[in-house]
Amino acid sequence: MSTFSDLGLDERILEALHSEGYRTPTPVQAETIPALMSGRDVMGIAQTGTGKTAAFALPILHHLAMKQPASGRPIRALMLTPTRELAAQIAERLRVYGRHLPIYSTVIFGGVGQSPQVKALRRGVDVLVATPGRLLDLHNQGHVDLSEVQHFVLDEADRMLDMGFSKDVERILALVPRKRQNLMFSATMPKAIGTLAGQMLHRPVEVDISPEAPTTDRIEQYIAFVQKGDKRQLLIDLIEGQMVSCGIVFTRTKHAANRLAKQLVKVGIPSDSIHGDKSQTARTRALASFKKGDVFVLVATDIASRGIDVEDITHVFNFDLPNEPEVYIHRIGRTARAGREGLAYSFCDETESGYLVGIQQLLGEEIEVLEDQPYHFEKARPKPGQRPGRVKGSPVGGRSRRGTGRGSGMRRYNRGGQKRSDGGNRSGGQRGGDRRNDDRKANNRTSRPGQKSDRPNRPSGRRPPQHNDRRSKQQGRSNASNRQKSRRQNQRRDDRP
Ligand code: AMP
Repeated sequence: MSTFSDLGLDERILEALHSEGYRTPTPVQAETIPALMSGRDVMGIAQTGTGKTAAFALPILHHLAMKQPASGRPIRALMLTPTRELAAQIAERLRVYGRHLPIYSTVIFGGVGQSPQVKALRRGVDVLVATPGRLLDLHNQGHVDLSEVQHFVLDEADRMLDMGFSKDVERILALVPRKRQNLMFSATMPKAIGTLAGQMLHRPVEVDISPEAPTTDRIEQYIAFVQKGDKRQLLIDLIEGQMVSCGIVFTRTKHAANRLAKQLVKVGIPSDSIHGDKSQTARTRALASFKKGDVFVLVATDIASRGIDVEDITHVFNFDLPNEPEVYIHRIGRTARAGREGLAYSFCDETESGYLVGIQQLLGEEIEVLEDQPYHFEKARPKPGQRPGRVKGSPVGGRSRRGTGRGSGMRRYNRGGQKRSDGGNRSGGQRGGDRRNDDRKANNRTSRPGQKSDRPNRPSGRRPPQHNDRRSKQQGRSNASNRQKSRRQNQRRDDRP
């Protein structure tokens, strides 16, 4: 199956895809579309960036267009997603894919006034994209009738449960007819998702697209061992040294995201934060400025970052290591979109070494150490044979812990995307100790991390992706003073013992 026309989709959909420049189906589309076209349920393991939206949107639009309702315009397809951003993106894609079809869709989510949403529902829609809370809210007020839903999509099911929506999902499932086509997409398969799939899906076709395969292969990953108090300066050095103009920084808490974004702005790096406590308007504005290139660095928490689909992201910084290894994969997958390369820098302090062990087990290999940086802190390195997970004094994330891979239902992949036959159980010890020593000798110890001319520990050959157009736009505006500040910082650093 190599083209969209082979999939039997309506001509009007093919026309829309053609205008979008889609030539061939992505793997998740090639597997999911035929199953949905034949009326089967699907359990898909795939995340944002794989083309999964079109995988479910196209066959559903096709079915809806083939069979118009006898009267009125009842909601015939319901797409449930955990975040507003994702909901908005799905709705936008539906409009694009269905633009030649007489199919109406709308999106409802919380955090904004409900009256425009109610108005849209009154006009009648075929497809409703919704987040669970607002959907139940409007249903309770009598604005939503789900009794004629024929297609039900649960997107990002793992995130949905993580965010505490499982009861809401159950309630919604009780509102849709029993006879319907179901599709569930999840990036990971923890036990709870298996249970939910068992309840929701009828003999599903299983589609397993490991997103790690295409993405991590093109991402250069580095780990920096550092003390908590030095993380900020190391981040600033890396951002400035590599002229980052489209990067995401992940922090564990919303408060940290806010504070860090402000600190970056103070040193002249255009930044903003995006997290669940910000109003929808503020989040949309931050994302728009980031996409436009006015904001170089977006500091985000995990949940808020889901659904951010910006193709130019060159750098991902894990300011805090996630306590769930699969989250690491999601985070770094924000870069290296659309065939590009990307860089991922992760900071590991003494309390996070166990998280690193878990991440490396999931990756099936160890991450290159960025040793030649002025804040290197050897004690943060995992001890030989250290077990994955929390060490004494580790911060615990706000979400439930799900295990570290082994026995947690999570699949393991190496960088080529193959499932590991040995269970991926290499410890967090070190790879290539000799090579590291050689690197150390070869490198000038005074070099700065991420310095353009002399980046330490960069494996030979590959150049970092640099998007200087965004930079140059801003540079004229503010960089003279930034350079001064940066020089002052370098001076301060040189004074360090
Ligand atoms: P998604 O995983 O649905 O968020 O899609 C990720 C990105 O891939 C979106 O920007 C889509 O527009 C794009 N995309 C999806 N399917 C295709 C395709 N077959 N060819 C080219 N781009 C695609």
